[in-house]
Amino acid sequence: MPTDSGVDRARLAALAARERATYEQRHPRSAAAYANAGHLFGRVPMTWMNKTAGGFPLYVDRARGARVTDLDGHEYVDFCLGDTGAMAGHSPAPVVEAVTRRLAELGGASTMLPTEDAAVVGADLARRFGLPYWSFALTATDANRWAIRLLRAVSGRPKILVNSYCYHGSVDESLIVVGPDGHGVSRAGNVGAPTDVTTTSRVAEFNDLAGLERELAHGDVAAVLMEPALTNIGIVLPAPGYLAGVRSLTRKHGTYLINDETHTFSAGPGGATAAWGLQPDVLTIGKAIGGGIPVGAYGLSAELADSLLGRADLDLVDMGGVGGTLAGNPVSMAATRATLTEVLTDDAFARMIDTAAAFADGVGKLIEGHGLPWSVSQLGARVEYRFANPAPVDGTSSAASADPPLEDFLHLYLANRGILLTPFHNMALMSPATTVDDVDRHHEVFGAALTALLG
Ligand code: PMP
Repeated sequence: MPTDSGVDRARLAALAARERATYEQRHPRSAAAYANAGHLFGRVPMTWMNKTAGGFPLYVDRARGARVTDLDGHEYVDFCLGDTGAMAGHSPAPVVEAVTRRLAELGGASTMLPTEDAAVVGADLARRFGLPYWSFALTATDANRWAIRLLRAVSGRPKILVNSYCYHGSVDESLIVVGPDGHGVSRAGNVGAPTDVTTTSRVAEFNDLAGLERELAHGDVAAVLMEPALTNIGIVLPAPGYLAGVRSLTRKHGTYLINDETHTFSAGPGGATAAWGLQPDVLTIGKAIGGGIPVGAYGLSAELADSLLGRADLDLVDMGGVGGTLAGNPVSMAATRATLTEVLTDDAFARMIDTAAAFADGVGKLIEGHGLPWSVSQLGARVEYRFANPAPVDGTSSAASADPPLEDFLHLYLANRGILLTPFHNMALMSPATTVDDVDRHHEVFGAALTALLG
């Protein structure tokens, strides 16, 4: 159900047209680069990059810390940070040093042999998240896929349960939503599903313990795969008692719990799991921990690791379905070690979260000052504004409060004035390099956008 978000639609359309024209004028080299990419599927390296309010993406020339410079020479304060891949800031010095040393001095990007960095990373992840045994992938998607396979194997159950309007990467089992009749249906746009998703998956709304219990009672769910707060349909925070309820229901029904901390890592050095005292059986993560270099990881409880390694019938070494040639490669491991031990430290998180509080506070005041029916949510170093107040409490209502034309206008207005938000959200992420001055710059431009919108 589209919302009117409290803005005049004709005025919004006229302002959006003006911003699109400005965007085109300001970015001739990006436009030319896009025009010259005729041999790319959809003209972009990856079709997601067509998610851009301006009709063509900005092409990157350079990026450092919390700044990106495009091909046309415009510099941006980057609150997108690669949708979390660059939460450590772009090219932090310790990561550049570690990767350069690995590649240039020591050599060996792809060896299928371990380096000692991996054990240091495993120990650091265990310290942060409380799960003792770790394994690596190249993406959070693969970490989720492999965790799902392991838990199906160990439980002997066929299905995975996720929250409606979750995102866990391109994981087949996760592309399910709660339909209008309350039953699970394929998510709209699901590309080439291998089978009807209801044969592999169950679904419940976030913050709905009764719905979760109803689905778990079938006794066929191997694992609940969830983010401790939804972050991919706007931020949806857990209601008091909800996450404790999820843990006790999963235990009651013999279902494992996977916390996907790929985005909720923003909550603190040990993600939401440590910040909120959660006890998942498996934790998956990716993106930020590599400081920009591809990596994914999953952590297992001792009980799970023991029972999996004791199963002679499972091929965990060759072609059993869990593994990737480049996973755990020396470059990923060097980058992750440097990111965790030198960049995304406990002190850095404290500063990032303070910066995010300043962001949320300022945006909240601007929304209130303009009398808009919007809200702002903060999850540690991550902040998001929504066109609904109060903030939605589940995925379906959050999806219904989306307003793509308004979102596009704000993204373009900000981009035309040197501010980048995540194209898929109104999401702003703080890196260790992001300053309160950067936040003030956002507020100045965001305030001007609201004044333009509301007159
Ligand atoms: N899990 C979550 C919660 C995510 O937000 C994402 C990506 N946005 C993924 C997994 C997948 O990450 P990747 O695309 O790097 O595999």
